Order: sequence, then C-alpha cells, then structure tokens
Amino acid sequence: MTEIINNYEMKKESTFKIGGRVIKAAFPSCIEDLVELLKTKEYDCVLGNCSNVLFTSSDINKSLIITKNINGYKTEGNKITVSAGTLGSVIARECLKNSLSGFEFLIGFPGTFGGMIYMNASAHNQAVSDYFVSAKIFDTNDNKIKILSKKEMDFKYRYSSLSKTGAILLEAEFELPKGDAEKIEETMNRNIEFRKTRQPSLKWGNIGSIFKNPENDSAGRLLDLCEMKGQKEGGAMVFENHANFIINYDNATSMDVIMLMYKMYSKVREKYTIEIKPEIKYIGNTGTEEYKIWAIMNSENMQTM
Ligand SMILES: Cc1cc2nc3c(=O)[nH]c(=O)nc-3n(C[C@H](O)[C@H](O)[C@H](O)COP(=O)(O)OP(=O)(O)OC[C@H]3O[C@@H](n4cnc5c(N)ncnc54)[C@H](O)[C@@H]3O)c2cc1C
Repeated sequence: MTEIINNYEMKKESTFKIGGRVIKAAFPSCIEDLVELLKTKEYDCVLGNCSNVLFTSSDINKSLIITKNINGYKTEGNKITVSAGTLGSVIARECLKNSLSGFEFLIGFPGTFGGMIYMNASAHNQAVSDYFVSAKIFDTNDNKIKILSKKEMDFKYRYSSLSKTGAILLEAEFELPKGDAEKIEETMNRNIEFRKTRQPSLKWGNIGSIFKNPENDSAGRLLDLCEMKGQKEGGAMVFENHANFIINYDNATSMDVIMLMYKMYSKVREKYTIEIKPEIKYIGNTGTEEYKIWAIMNSENMQTM
C-alpha cells in the first residue's frame, strides 16, 4: 500500500526540521509498491529518512518518494539482506544478536540503507560498503530491476555509482564476519558514547556533517581553526562541540543555513585556500538566491533523479 499526501510539509520528515511543502509525497510500504511508483515517472527524487538533506523553506516544486516504511531484513548465517528503508540502527542490533561484526558504527545511526548506500556512509573506520555483496536496484533509464555487484557500485568516499546513474536502491545484501558478541557490544557502547559527547542530539535539528573532509584533512578541524564553533546566522548555529555540524536552534530557515554554510566555506577558503565541498544534499527551486549561493559552493550535489 502507498500513502500519498499532497502539499506535504518536508519539515515533518527532515531531521533538520526545515522544509516547505512539496507537490506530493508518496510513502510506499513495500518494494513492489516503490517500483510501481518509479515506473509512473511522476516523482523527482527518492529519499529515506531525510537525515542528510536540506530542503528549502519555500514551497518546493517537486514530488518525492519516501521509503522509510519499507523496512525489513532477512538473516541467514553470515548473510543479511536489507530493504532500502530500514534504519542502520535496526541492523546494528540484528548484527549484535547474531554476533556479526562490521556494522558496529551503525548503532544510533539515523540513515536508511537507501541513503547510506547512495553515499557510502561511514564512521569509526567502518563503511557500509565494507561487507557489501550486491544490490537490487531499479534502473530509472530502462525501468528494469537489476542486480549490481560491488564493483559496479564503484564505492568511494561519500560516493556510489547510484549518484551518477540515478538508479534506486531496493535491497542490499551483505556478508559479515562472525565476531565476539561482548566485543561487538563494547564497541557499540563506545560509539554511542562518542556520538553523545561529540555530536548534537536530534532534539536539535541537524543533518550530520555539513562538509566533506578534504583529502588528508578534516573539515571539522579546519572549521574549528577558523573559529566557527558557536557562529550564528538567524536560527542556525555551528554546534559548540563540533565545527562541522549546524544545528537548528531557533526555527532556522534554509536561507539561514545556506548563509552560515557560505560563511564556513569562505573562511576555510580564505585562510587555507581549500574549497570544502558540502556533504549534504539540497532540495530547492532553481533560480532562487539560496540556490545560487549553494551552486557556488557545490555543483556536484544538486539533487536530481
Ligand atoms: C546526528 C547525525 C549523525 C550522522 N552521522 C553520520 C556519520 O557518522 N556518517 C555518515 O556517513 N553520515 C552521517 N549522517 C548523515 C546521514 O545520516 C547519512 O548520510 C545517511 O546515509 C542518510 O540516509 P537517509 O536515509 O537519511 O538518506 P536521505 O537523507 O533521505 O537521502 C540522502 C541521499 O540518498 C539518496 N537516497 C535515499 N534513499 C535512496 C534509495 N533507496 N536509492 C537511491 N538513492 C537514495 C537521496 O536521494 C539523497 O540524495 C548523520 C546524520 C545525522 C543527523
């Protein structure tokens, strides 16, 4: 079954708690329904938990599919098959239950497998691609379901071939090594503690790290040296404990966030002649002032399907 809501306010979905109304949002509850929606060609973009997307605060001239209700997984020995809308933290707990190691970083992770595979999510020296075997995808060019190997996914830092081809992840298969349950739990507890102390809680709207790390450096380190922590623009503020996070501390608009990002980007460019690139995606309307500023910072991450 698919629920379709017209004039849906994306503020309700985004972990940033920012976003205007889209033309319609569709919430399929199974892979078959997702495929049917994709075949209609009526939708501009597929999203998971919206934990990496800045939506414009104005009305958005787009229709979206949100997969968060397509959650499910199957575990057989060392193999796990996961549906696109399943949250990382659900699979982290499943791995702990089965003493499988490799997904300890997913504990407390707000993204779905669709979003994580799309951008090869990683943390604590683990990446979602590490034990990836294959993906079932929908090819939006020829409307066919296909299986892609790890090689065809071409995983790199914050990149998979899905972002180039526009293919939609339906399901992914992983094969993880057996580990020691106690050690897995210990690592997960350490990871949770790290997130609690270093990253903002979702009580403050945020969408994770704002900029990608430049080669051999850390965007957080550079932004910290530029004294960005605590800097504000309207209702948006650079998080006090980590300079690569922006929090929505007081009804921030997308323009507040874009202006603050531009300040961060410009400071690093000025001081270190390094152009840091946004890690987050932006969904807005072409030709607007904020769209133009976004485009200066990044031409790679304009969201298209
Ligand atoms: C508090 C916090 C901490 C975070 N920590 C980390 C971290 O440690 N490491 C990290 O890498 N990220 C982190 N993030 C960012 C974010 O959670 C990840 O990028 C995650 O992978 C996004 O998943 P999502 O389901 O929310 O994707 P969305 O935000 O919904 O979408 C992100 C992108 O994926 C695409 N996409 C979504 N589903 C599909 C699909 N089925 N098929 C094809 N494309 C799809 C979308 O079109 C979009 O381009 C953090 C975010 C927050 C809020």
